Amino acid sequence: MSSKNSSEASEIRKAVESRVQKSVIVPEMLNRESRFRFKCYPGIPCFTKCCSGIKIFLTPYDIYRLKKRLGLEYKDFLVQYTEPAVIEKSQLPVVSIRLNSDEIRSCPFVTPEGCSVYTDRPLTCRYYPLGMGTMKKDDNKDGENFFIQIKEDHCLGHNESTEWTVDEWRADQESDLYDEMNSDWMMVVLKAKTLGFVNFSEKSLDLFFIVSTNLDLFREFVLSGKFIEAYRLDREYIDKLMADELEFLKFSLKWLRFAMFDEGDFKVDEEARKKAKEKLLAEREMQRKQQMEEIE
Ligand code: SF4
Ligand code: SF4
Repeated sequence: MSSKNSSEASEIRKAVESRVQKSVIVPEMLNRESRFRFKCYPGIPCFTKCCSGIKIFLTPYDIYRLKKRLGLEYKDFLVQYTEPAVIEKSQLPVVSIRLNSDEIRSCPFVTPEGCSVYTDRPLTCRYYPLGMGTMKKDDNKDGENFFIQIKEDHCLGHNESTEWTVDEWRADQESDLYDEMNSDWMMVVLKAKTLGFVNFSEKSLDLFFIVSTNLDLFREFVLSGKFIEAYRLDREYIDKLMADELEFLKFSLKWLRFAMFDEGDFKVDEEARKKAKEKLLAEREMQRKQQMEEIE
């Protein structure tokens, strides 16, 4: 790297770091009825300032919407617009949007007129200036969502007088639809974070990555025959699934939750469920032994 390039890289890093440092998470947990003030609109002086120097993890439904919007196959979308990432406090591999290499590390979708994929923008962008987390109080129940407010110096939307409850904001931004579509996947992520000590096998992590990012590839796996046989799935049902991308996405996320944690309501033959559970338990036992060996 030349010294010019090196100093440019250092400038970029400083610009991004200064943005991150100015980001303030308001230390108050919000619930669905909590109120906050905010308004974002074209013409506000900070317009699109939030669309650079940020890490945008993509959920399965984000990827589905974006690749459809751009008229791309999953594989081509991943190659052109994403880079590998890992969900923090877990080992789960996902992808995030690959930012441009300009000075401010802008999002590839931002234009002077705003977001070029606005109606299909990712969940993180929809929630902003809120962040969403999930807490699991009881292991037998699904998690409970909580929200936080993010205040960044450059964002002037907080000075506006329009008031929202968290739920009104979620409905207005269609975040609620995204949460619903991703719900089984979110439960997998939450459980993996809660069990931070579990070492998933390479195979489990590969499957998580494929189902989370590339349903074209997962479709091939399902159609390979072994999957249909193992879960005793009805051929007519599979044909219907294959004809409806969205139904296939829901099916895949339900399966992922079932395969990784034997949870959720993936409809499966009892014998197949028993076998899957035995396999899961054997895998966990192997991981436990490996961990014990590492400690000793
Ligand atoms: S108000 Fe905030 S969210 Fe809206 S454009 Fe400005 S910086 Fe971005
Ligand atoms: S996807 Fe759209 S809203 Fe999100 S950061 Fe990029 S340009 Fe901004």
